Amino acid sequence: MRPVLSSNDWLIEETAFDFEEANFKETIFTVGNGYQGTRGSLEEGHKGELTGTYLSGVYDHHDSTVIDQVNAPTWLPLKVRVGGTLLNTQTCKVVEHRRVLDLQTGLLHRDTLFEESSGHRTRIASARFASFADQHICGIRLTVTPENHSSVVTVESALDAERYNLDRLPAYQGTPKFHPEVKWEKWAKSRHMKVTSTTANEDHIYVETRTLDTEISIGMAAAMDVPVGGNFHGTERSYESVSQIASVDAVMGQSYTFDKLVAIFTSRDLNGAELGARCEAALETAHAKGIETCLSESVAAWRLKWEACDCVVTGDVEATRALRFNIYHLLIAANENDPRANIGAKSMSGEGYKGHVFWDTEIFLLPFYIFTQPKTAKALLKYRYNTLNGAIKNARMNGFKGAQYAWESADTGAETTPKWTHDGVNRIWTGEEEIHVTACVAFGILSYVAATGDQQFMRDFGAEVLYQTSRFWVSRLELNEGADRYELTRVIGPDEFHEHVDNNTFTNRMAKWHLEQTARVFADLSAAGSSEHDSLLNRLGLTADEVKKWTNVAEKIYLPVDPSGTLIEQFEGYFQLDDIPIVEWDDNQMPCYPDGHDHFSLNGSMLLKQPDVIMLNYLLPDEFSDEVKAANYAFYEKRTMHKSSLSPAIHSIMGIEVGDISSAHRYFERSAFVDLINNQGNTQDGMHIASAGGTWQSLVCGFGGFRVKHGEMTFKPWLPEQWSGIQFSLKWQGNDIAVTILRDEYRFLLSAAVGVSEIIEVFGQQKTLTAGQEVIVSPILNT
Ligand code: BGC
Ligand code: BGC
Repeated sequence: MRPVLSSNDWLIEETAFDFEEANFKETIFTVGNGYQGTRGSLEEGHKGELTGTYLSGVYDHHDSTVIDQVNAPTWLPLKVRVGGTLLNTQTCKVVEHRRVLDLQTGLLHRDTLFEESSGHRTRIASARFASFADQHICGIRLTVTPENHSSVVTVESALDAERYNLDRLPAYQGTPKFHPEVKWEKWAKSRHMKVTSTTANEDHIYVETRTLDTEISIGMAAAMDVPVGGNFHGTERSYESVSQIASVDAVMGQSYTFDKLVAIFTSRDLNGAELGARCEAALETAHAKGIETCLSESVAAWRLKWEACDCVVTGDVEATRALRFNIYHLLIAANENDPRANIGAKSMSGEGYKGHVFWDTEIFLLPFYIFTQPKTAKALLKYRYNTLNGAIKNARMNGFKGAQYAWESADTGAETTPKWTHDGVNRIWTGEEEIHVTACVAFGILSYVAATGDQQFMRDFGAEVLYQTSRFWVSRLELNEGADRYELTRVIGPDEFHEHVDNNTFTNRMAKWHLEQTARVFADLSAAGSSEHDSLLNRLGLTADEVKKWTNVAEKIYLPVDPSGTLIEQFEGYFQLDDIPIVEWDDNQMPCYPDGHDHFSLNGSMLLKQPDVIMLNYLLPDEFSDEVKAANYAFYEKRTMHKSSLSPAIHSIMGIEVGDISSAHRYFERSAFVDLINNQGNTQDGMHIASAGGTWQSLVCGFGGFRVKHGEMTFKPWLPEQWSGIQFSLKWQGNDIAVTILRDEYRFLLSAAVGVSEIIEVFGQQKTLTAGQEVIVSPILNT
């Protein structure tokens, strides 16, 4: 099978092997399907590689400082030996090397020409996939071609359970740089699994492990097909790995194909059914179909996914490709079939943040899913419902009522933020203080219901979360009797440079909004009257009087502003801080820390890590006037250092909104390319998946100018001079709207049942979309 690649604007390419870049490439070449993510390591391995397969929802604590998303057994190994010599980047000269991630099909292609010291040249090509048609199946087609020799070629296909997660770097003075081949050896390593059974025979190999604390069993079965003319050579079995070996008397210039199919299940999927039998049965079914059928089924499933979410920038192939790259990673990050799992801050592409779930989900990622894959959005929000008990325990442990979502959440919803930075030098306070995440969960639920009309979700799950979290806010808010107002002291807002602050406006305003919205939902559900709602109120002991109290408290929440009432103070006392100017920018025109400063020394300055007030203005578009948004953007943008990858996308959006378009395109690029060109320098730890979600928002909400305001879809498009147009699609109330923004016209096409219509607003003017009839709006309205 010669790979047929998609057009260039779907391809991410590597044309040489470079040790220095190998780990960052492993991240960007991750394949996955929401159930698993497997880093793009080479099949034969090399010293200094950072391999990993992560399974959604599979966590373990054991000897790590905080709970980890488990580095599960690896299914990648396929080692090629020529006359006994293992071919890899260390034993051979790499004459040619090319890898291509085809974003449209989800396939990772590879083609490497190795030369041994003997002068023998052997080409290894592979195509790798994690099926989107059957999440439990993945595989590799490997083709070996001896180019200038005839030799015995053996291929060893393994499943290897000798795995560990990286835990922490010992504290060194300064930040030492280690050679890429040894740097991971310096880390403390956490064991999370023990092997419970292995099988190896001519038909297949199987390895089963169990996580040490959480007791999740992971089963993997694999089978390798031997090429015509080849032989099954035997099996290898050690305590932690199993392999099948095949060999062929390879003739110069001929290609030999070895297919490896793999089936993966865990005890989380099976409700007690026998894991080994299930893996073997799935493997047999896949095997009977053959790898080509498995592949084409997956490719077909990928195409369906893309239909709902593809984005195009006309006139800018690089931008289109970068957008698709981010969307590809969003698609493989979330599991629509598992409402007990969520997306970690680095998705399943690396171990940064240990697979922990942050506000990133609701604020940066969820909009993409709500407006293109609502079923996935629902699963992500059900995770919050399913971890409500964890949130209730968090509140109780902290001395509060109701439910407090964790700043960092994993399998149960318990707070899992580490207390110290990984070098052990600095105390981390986010777990105690970054409490706005609870309001962000409410924001996610309310946004989902507003866009989908899924009232059933609100009745069955959303309302309970809103009620319990409102109770948390009311018990956490402190009454300042002298000033007759409610306050939240000792918090961290989205800008993490400032710790232990009082009355962070973002947190206070979001808590207020949360309480107001919950009261509205309570009133609506009570008015609609249903036995389910009545029994929920009974179960929670919730009365109209309690809800009335929430409203009264909400009215008195303190919101700091300057005397003119226009400039919002980020937190009480912020305007008195040292106004240190930004005077130096890096090659990407992003601010550098002022001399002598770092992340942990800016508490006393006005400098920000990422948007805080600007973020608030973005999230609640109905609540702030144009004048307020413009004044705050002007004030805070020049003090923001973008030391989080979450920052630039929001600035591109809000710059466009307030008419300061000077940096919008640069901010978009900074967000879209953060991982593609590793411009944060830490892509080896995993994708900045929130930035991927931010990139989508930058296109749709920034350049497309899309917001949900007063319950309607509204648009205020703006195109940078580099682009001639953009295209994207949105799902709204179960229907699809295709949007094309060109310089001279804006096009909207509603796909829905005959007779359905929707009202949208374009630059403040109402337009009615009728199913099947494209509406064209002239940008003249823009003036
Ligand atoms: C992040 C925090 C996080 C902490 C520990 C920091 O880099 O900014 O949000 O809680 O790491 O994981
Ligand atoms: C950011 C947080 C974010 C976290 C995980 C931190 O650097 O400041 O806002 O939630 O990373 O992505």
